[in-house]
Amino acid sequence: MSYEVIRIDEQSWRIEDGGVRFFLLTGDSAALLVDSGMSVPNVRELAASLTDLPLRLLNTHADVDHVSGNGAFEEFYLHPSDAALYYRWHEPRTGRIVPVWDGDVIDLGSRELEVIHLPGHTPGSIALLDRSRRVLISGDPFQDGDIFMFGPHREMHAYILSTEKAMRRAGEFDAIWPSHGSFPLSPALLPRLRDAAERILRRELPGREQEMFGMRHLRYDAGVARFLCDQ
Ligand SMILES: [Zn+2]
Repeated sequence: MSYEVIRIDEQSWRIEDGGVRFFLLTGDSAALLVDSGMSVPNVRELAASLTDLPLRLLNTHADVDHVSGNGAFEEFYLHPSDAALYYRWHEPRTGRIVPVWDGDVIDLGSRELEVIHLPGHTPGSIALLDRSRRVLISGDPFQDGDIFMFGPHREMHAYILSTEKAMRRAGEFDAIWPSHGSFPLSPALLPRLRDAAERILRRELPGREQEMFGMRHLRYDAGVARFLCDQ
């Protein structure tokens, strides 16, 4: 699979890696990879070609399309509620999780990133609020593509509550940088996602049966995004 590196600004890059997007962010003193993608052979070498700063890795959550390059790192930030999911993809257990919790701030030097815990898509999904850019780096929950909500670990009620949590912070960011779908997105997406998820739970939207990864689920085209949900 091929990938593309696109510079967003002087200190931010997005890597379009097939179906997933991940980010390299730099501050005055450190660099952070936000996820490690699907198919880039060595994300550490890729980052080193863009910055000389000491590099750390954070995962927005532990789904396989976000952690496949983690092997280049001995340790990485992850919310502990995704630890079980992470080690399911990495048997025997490799890599050390450095836990990040809701409200933690990662400082890259004049660039503070606040961790916002958003359970629902996975129990340990997090977003990063980049205060320097007024941007929410959202991972998978907030996007206009396919939002995976079927199978173990996913939970729609928590998703709705997490979306409302982000809506309460919407005065602090002007854009959303998601891991899938269009880039960037407006915070106006958030209430539309919340309303769509509510309608699905109330069974007001027709779902279409389909199968992926051997799991049958219902696909809801909610206009704003597609939700793939348990039956
Ligand atoms: Zn994903």
